[in-house]
Amino acid sequence: MPEVMVKQGAGSHAPSYWAATAVPAPTFTPFTGTRRVEVAIIGGGFTGLSAAYHLAEQGIEALVLEANDTGWGASGRNGGMLPPRYKKGFSGIAGKYGHDVTRRLHGIILEAVDTVESMAERIGGDSGFRRTGQLTAAHTRVHLATLEADRDWAAREAGDRTPRLLDRREMQEEVGGGSHAGGWLDPRGAGIHPLSFARNVAAYLARKGVPIHTASPVRRLVDGPDGVTLHLDGGTITADQVVIATNGYTGMIPFAPGQLDKRLVAVNSSVLATAPLGDNLAASLMAGRRMVADTKHIMNYYRLNEDNCLIFGGRGDITGGSDDPAVYAKLEQQMVETFPQVAGVPVSHRWSGMVAVTRDDFPHIGRVSQRVSYAMGYGGRGVALSNMLGKLLVPLVRCETVDAGPMSSNPFLRYPFHAFRITGMQIVAGWYRYLDAKALRAERAGS
Ligand SMILES: Cc1cc2nc3c(=O)[nH]c(=O)nc-3n(C[C@H](O)[C@H](O)[C@H](O)COP(=O)(O)OP(=O)(O)OC[C@H]3O[C@@H](n4cnc5c(N)ncnc54)[C@H](O)[C@@H]3O)c2cc1C
Repeated sequence: MPEVMVKQGAGSHAPSYWAATAVPAPTFTPFTGTRRVEVAIIGGGFTGLSAAYHLAEQGIEALVLEANDTGWGASGRNGGMLPPRYKKGFSGIAGKYGHDVTRRLHGIILEAVDTVESMAERIGGDSGFRRTGQLTAAHTRVHLATLEADRDWAAREAGDRTPRLLDRREMQEEVGGGSHAGGWLDPRGAGIHPLSFARNVAAYLARKGVPIHTASPVRRLVDGPDGVTLHLDGGTITADQVVIATNGYTGMIPFAPGQLDKRLVAVNSSVLATAPLGDNLAASLMAGRRMVADTKHIMNYYRLNEDNCLIFGGRGDITGGSDDPAVYAKLEQQMVETFPQVAGVPVSHRWSGMVAVTRDDFPHIGRVSQRVSYAMGYGGRGVALSNMLGKLLVPLVRCETVDAGPMSSNPFLRYPFHAFRITGMQIVAGWYRYLDAKALRAERAGS
């Protein structure tokens, strides 16, 4: 399928490991003609598909419009990890927002993982959902202390005694690589085959009679008193309600109302997959096949799939443009530093996609007007949350209120000087790299 012209970088379109191993893509056609519908959803990733799924459960008529193909964006290219925690830990969030709000967020993230599990069961087909457990790997003792504070907060304030802290030796046994001061293990964390999941949801919706149109970029949106009119290459759609679910690709086609594109900075995340490791080599790392992400500002995340391919991700090309081989070389170097035993194993796939960063580090769900709602801004943590916010969009399109803690109550702030965002991100990334290196130096000096 030809891809739409992009205004800014859209990540690498090199075929991903997921594209090579996914269930076949269901076939959809571009939109043509004129039509009236209750809810039009713009974006066929997890947020848009989950909104359509949950609207269909309530008997609300919806239609999905996707510029490329279902799962084409971050949803089909991510690490497929569902950690039941936020990047900012619970204790840090409680310090800023208080215990009640943090309890709400704690409930939401657990419900988010459960939501994906129940969707995966309902839609049929194999989406690779497994409760593998999730590890947060502390790169220093200072970060381990933060994880400890999170564990204590969860037990004391939310009655949740499931997550466990691991010491250095236990982490080494779990990961079989890296040099971690310790870690956090939550057995409720899960993994998924992201592109298969997106395609299975789309196929399920099609079976339920929900129209999905691919290769159907929305070019213009006119919010009028009798409905919202969407202008596409093949015609127009008038909707009572519109959901914008374009996340890191908001602004790819400059239609977005409410200056949503200026409230996000799209950042590239890149991923490698190795060729299948031999059984002995595979047994030497991540025997539990858990999902792992570390605590660095510029973090790495990794998993060992059932076919023994190691997936290893991290920061991508900041310009979001065409792939810089140096980015993949750096990622490969980080992979071999973490797992020296995989040196020399061929890398079979290299790809990337856009994540959307917000000023307060939280995703946002809300409305631009009475008829236009949105959910976006997940950073690198959207597999579970995008599906959850897709569900929470249902009351929003019914003009009811939603309590998603800071995700719905914090103002969705614009980035000042958005035109200079790439330079800004380069400065921030440089600063974060410096902080990560400094923390690691201090850790080594103290050990
Ligand atoms: C490399 C990578 C690794 C990641 N790893 C993880 C992970 O392991 N765990 C985790 O929790 N999160 C991860 N994430 C983040 C997660 O993938 C995203 O937060 C999530 O998929 C966002 O889903 P979405 O549906 O909101 O957006 P997307 O999946 O990006 O979908 C947006 C869609 O909108 C479409 N679109 C844009 N403009 C228009 C228009 N005008 N008309 C019609 N359609 C339009 C695009 O074509 C696109 O398909 C990762 C992201 C990346 C890129």
